[in-house]
Amino acid sequence: MIKPTRVIVALVAATFLPLAGLSTAATAATPTPAATQRHLVEIPAQAAVAQAVAPSECATTLLGDYVDQLIGAMTLEQLLFLIEHQNTLLSVPTYDALFFGTQGDPDYALESHARQITNTFRDLQRFWDIDSSDIQLMAMHGDVLLDADRIAATLTAMVATGVTEPMTPAEIEAEAEEVATFMQEQGDFYDNPLWTLNAFAFSGEGESDPFIAALPDKLVMGDGIIEFYDAIGLGDVGVRVIMAHEFAHHVQFELGVFDTGPTDPAEATRRTELMADAMASYFATHKKGLALNSKRVADALLSFYTVGDCYFDDPGHHGTPLQRQRAADWGADLAAAAKPRSYVLPAETFVGLFEAALPGIISGN
Ligand SMILES: [Zn+2]
Repeated sequence: MIKPTRVIVALVAATFLPLAGLSTAATAATPTPAATQRHLVEIPAQAAVAQAVAPSECATTLLGDYVDQLIGAMTLEQLLFLIEHQNTLLSVPTYDALFFGTQGDPDYALESHARQITNTFRDLQRFWDIDSSDIQLMAMHGDVLLDADRIAATLTAMVATGVTEPMTPAEIEAEAEEVATFMQEQGDFYDNPLWTLNAFAFSGEGESDPFIAALPDKLVMGDGIIEFYDAIGLGDVGVRVIMAHEFAHHVQFELGVFDTGPTDPAEATRRTELMADAMASYFATHKKGLALNSKRVADALLSFYTVGDCYFDDPGHHGTPLQRQRAADWGADLAAAAKPRSYVLPAETFVGLFEAALPGIISGN
């Protein structure tokens, strides 16, 4: 999760028009998120879908190419449904897991790569010297979209917490019914990786909304992101590295790192994201961590987040590919320099070293 409120690039209905060949009337009802809307969780698929349907000059990324493929494989009927119900399809699986998921509930049980994910989580808990015993590890699955009651409960909570625009109970019920009915008729469309193309860390600490503040700490792995890494041949490395990145956000929550950064939201996000990359790389390449090859680790980190590069003014901006590469290299170099090789830095010390290195990571000097 990104602590400072992130404005997600709005999926404007018009951007779909050239691709879908629609009349404007057909999409007039598509909501455009307000700029003031709050976002508890960043949903990269939203920006990736926008880029897929209205390509800009941004360089394509592996994640972007993957989203293009997913969209290209849809029937026209499915694509039109996505356009009409994009907020529900792209947000509900994430917020369902955030609001209602618990470790141990079969609805959120890890399936793909389950053993690897569980083991890596344990490795991470051992590696970093923070109290991580209260973090719940879980999956998110697209099958929530088959269940009108679960969709309605999630939309209701999204409205109540201000992460989506106001909807009446009747509107919520109608939307939930329509989506569940469609998904039940469309084979495995409910399981499309696009709906769960995300992994996130969440902590409710410091949130003013009592409902959000009461939620347990979580690390949520979407089926879609796991499938993405499998599809690009980075399954083993990618899944573990993205977990390490998300776990790094928990280290940051625990140490209060989000409270001490620059006041400019874009700079603040860049700092915590580059730090999370460096921490992920440090863990993933360290002898006491995963002892993975540093180039594959950097590839895994870069394949996912470079989608942010299109939006330099976005408060959720994650840093340029070069900055992310340098952050990953910095973390790997630090791991390689450990003396003895099995020595792991205290998290607090790591953060201090990173802060000192950050200007160089940003500028390249
Ligand atoms: Zn992150």
